[in-house]
Amino acid sequence: MSRASIADAVGLTKATVSSLVGELIARGLLSERGRAPAAAVGRPGQLVALSDETVVGLGLEINVDYLAACVLDLAGGVRFERFLRRENRDTPIRDVFDALGDLGRSALNEAEAERLIPVGVTVAAPGLVEVDSGMLLMAPNLGWSNTPLRTEVANRLQRPHLYVTADNEANLAALGELWQGHGQEWRDFIHISGEIGVGAAVVVGGELLRSGSGLGGELGHLSIDPNGAECPCGSRGCLERVVGQEALLKRARLDAEVGTSIGVPDGGVRLLAESAERGDQRTLDALAEAGEALGLACGAAVNLLAPNTVVLGGIFALLFDWLADPLREELEKRAFVAKCSDVAVVRSELGAAAAVRGAASLTLRAVCADPYLVGSSGR
Ligand SMILES: [Zn+2]
Repeated sequence: MSRASIADAVGLTKATVSSLVGELIARGLLSERGRAPAAAVGRPGQLVALSDETVVGLGLEINVDYLAACVLDLAGGVRFERFLRRENRDTPIRDVFDALGDLGRSALNEAEAERLIPVGVTVAAPGLVEVDSGMLLMAPNLGWSNTPLRTEVANRLQRPHLYVTADNEANLAALGELWQGHGQEWRDFIHISGEIGVGAAVVVGGELLRSGSGLGGELGHLSIDPNGAECPCGSRGCLERVVGQEALLKRARLDAEVGTSIGVPDGGVRLLAESAERGDQRTLDALAEAGEALGLACGAAVNLLAPNTVVLGGIFALLFDWLADPLREELEKRAFVAKCSDVAVVRSELGAAAAVRGAASLTLRAVCADPYLVGSSGR
């Protein structure tokens, strides 16, 4: 945009906008990109855009069977992205953090070699994360509890000036979809991430809905059958008992290691997809039942929150073709809101990369919210 069109859009004078833009250019957050097409009157203005040459954010992710790192620039460009398949269950926690530290340092080294300036780090984990303290309170699928995620990662990056935060992977996946996927068009959506467990996050008006504790989003433990199977969480008939990966494999009578959609190459998800592709009736029934159960749970969420879109991520993105129709059918029956307005059910655009992209984006959003975090020399 030109300075004049920014002034029009934000309702400040052109002089004020010019001075602010000058400051942001000095901080390396904006850069000039040629001239706007000639206006009828006056000189054509210089166009300014978010800079892809200075600040970057690092996202890291720990999951049950992989580690991931992603570096994003301010203009949304992916400058580094690596997924490292690695069994993190039943391994000493220290080894997992050491491997994540190595991965994080190589991402930072590559960014710095390109003269990019990392401004912070966000770590995604599959469990309950207390954002303020950076503690991972509980991650049942990893078998971890009360782990100081933020401190463990910060200690290994060898960059004491970098601010490290931690958050839940489902929240970050929704933010990834919001800032890097189609989220800006949807604005109000529920993002359901299925991997081994099932998490959800809600975006309302383009903002992630958060409680003060940062916990929540445990859609997988929404009880859809009060007399259903016992769940390790202490409740009964939790959604995860029907749509979680273990339940799907058992119902389809498939024998495979449970894993995430990118972690285990021949893991449960691929087997389910291949088996459904072949038309195996048990698998098709398991997936239809799961779609229906997801529709039931989504119906409750949609009635309460009235989103316009339900996004299926993780393994549900890979199994979307078999889940979507029964889900939609059930949703139409259950969600009163859906009788008055359309609720779209869509596949996640970013899939398994959503959480680590969201983590990197969240770091950069802190700079967008407060550009003074970056010094006038761009540091
Ligand atoms: Zn439960």
